[in-house]
Amino acid sequence: MNHIKNVIVGFWRLLQGMYISMLNFLRPKVTERYPENRGKKIYFERFRGMLVMPHNAKNEHKCTACGICQMNCPNGTIKVVSKQEMNEDTGKPSRVLDVYYYDLGTCIYCALCTQTCPQKAIEWNNNFEHAVFERAALVKKLNKDGSRLEPKPAVPKPAATPAGAPAPAETADSAPTPLSATTV
Ligand code: SF4
Ligand code: SF4
Repeated sequence: MNHIKNVIVGFWRLLQGMYISMLNFLRPKVTERYPENRGKKIYFERFRGMLVMPHNAKNEHKCTACGICQMNCPNGTIKVVSKQEMNEDTGKPSRVLDVYYYDLGTCIYCALCTQTCPQKAIEWNNNFEHAVFERAALVKKLNKDGSRLEPKPAVPKPAATPAGAPAPAETADSAPTPLSATTV
């Protein structure tokens, strides 16, 4: 009886295995024919392929060479090299970006750089094909040759108050704090 029971259980297990196999056999295929499907692939919006610095049609970028991304990068992947340049508007020397180095070989894609950049000057693209023959080729220069800082749009001046008009009332935030309310 025990032998017959083992045969029945074994046969049942075989049927279960065949059922799973048949399910997978009939399921739609998800294997991608890469690289034949290059150009037709759909990427997730937040996919992090490679760090890039967008430039506009005038070859201008938004990087002010503040170095915040370099300070926040946990493993020295970014190196911001700046230089002093005469500002034609102010007539004073100001710091501008010279070279922005990004070492793809050490980047861990944590995105601390893009999240902390105050100018939103760097972002991610979808390129994931990074194979090169020499490690040095993984060090990228993100700013294009001859590029410069994009000028900020002029801020419109506030309209002048007409003569004789009452001065704007002080708000609770702008009013001076009474001495008696000062906490020690
Ligand atoms: S990319 Fe952003 S954070 Fe980095 S140096 Fe340029 S402006 Fe500063
Ligand atoms: S993603 Fe992380 S490791 Fe890569 S450059 Fe940005 S801060 Fe550095």
